[in-house]
Amino acid sequence: MFENLYIHIPFCRKKCDYCAFFSVTDYSQCDKVLTKIIEDIRKQCELNGKKFDTLYLGGGTPTLLSEKQLEYLFANLDDILTLKNLSEISIEANPETLTKGKIAILSNYVNRLSMGVQSFNADLRKILGRDCSNQAISQAIDLIHNSSIKNFNIDLIYAIPSQTAADFIADINEVKKAGATHLSCYNLTIEEQTALAAKEISIDEDNSCELYQIAVNNGYFKQYEVSNYAINEQYQCRHNKNIWRGGTLLGIGPAASSFDGKNRFTQSYSIDNYLHDKAIDYDIISKIERRNEIFAVNLRTCAGWTRSDFESIYPDAFDFYLAKIRESAKIYPDFFDYDSNHITLTSQGLLFWDEVASELL
Ligand code: SF4
Repeated sequence: MFENLYIHIPFCRKKCDYCAFFSVTDYSQCDKVLTKIIEDIRKQCELNGKKFDTLYLGGGTPTLLSEKQLEYLFANLDDILTLKNLSEISIEANPETLTKGKIAILSNYVNRLSMGVQSFNADLRKILGRDCSNQAISQAIDLIHNSSIKNFNIDLIYAIPSQTAADFIADINEVKKAGATHLSCYNLTIEEQTALAAKEISIDEDNSCELYQIAVNNGYFKQYEVSNYAINEQYQCRHNKNIWRGGTLLGIGPAASSFDGKNRFTQSYSIDNYLHDKAIDYDIISKIERRNEIFAVNLRTCAGWTRSDFESIYPDAFDFYLAKIRESAKIYPDFFDYDSNHITLTSQGLLFWDEVASELL
């Protein structure tokens, strides 16, 4: 029933100032959470089968787990899911937590690694409250190079206060130099209840647009989604692409969300509640809301929708959206590229996806 599996490891060494993901810095319940994650996956597989296409371990910081904990987690996942049958197994990593021993374990199980760097410039990382040294970043890159994991992503953040075009070009060049096959560039946003929000800093929108265009025109990584770039199609993240096109998702772990093809449910944002199966949030979505959402989310990709792809999910619905796009294009002529068989957003349209989505829905 579920095609994609997400596991949330909700522990971090220190909370970054911009981060609104659920994670805690007290790891005292880490072993209990891992045991519960494995129990939950076993239960779900008994109920719903285990034909997953992708597995993504995010957080939090999955590579914060000790070697023993990583081995426990992956050995059990392999036992339940037979990992070699999955197309893609990704794990998020933070440079300062990677060791030779952990990379050796991961090499046995994962085929994609996504490393959060955010900026190679220590001063900019400091503004983000990102606790990591240049030395840890270069050591982590060396460890990855010396491993069998050849598909690896680096995350960057742009529009950091005081960041110049030259700073961002230097960051992208470092990602190329590192031999990454994939680049994710996220526009800094100030999320409520983060340390950055408390500092009352603001984002320079003009700077943000300029740096976005630098990423789009970088000439090495090809954009395939508003924030995602790969050296070629083979290295695009399969897990995310499946989700953007409305694929089903089983989310395991605190704060993890699932989508069963009809509705969404999210585990509690509390370790204790998660351990006791409490406070799960069920989000009942109408058929039309779900169709709108799937249409809009995949418009964030450069491929957008073809008539045949969309109608394979929603027969006869393509013309409904085509008519809406024609209307929106009268207001925003530079945002759309469409004809009777395809709809995509231009790179400028992608940048203003929020406005496009609210106009469409
Ligand atoms: S950005 Fe990543 S490492 Fe930093 S607090 Fe959030 S989840 Fe943890």
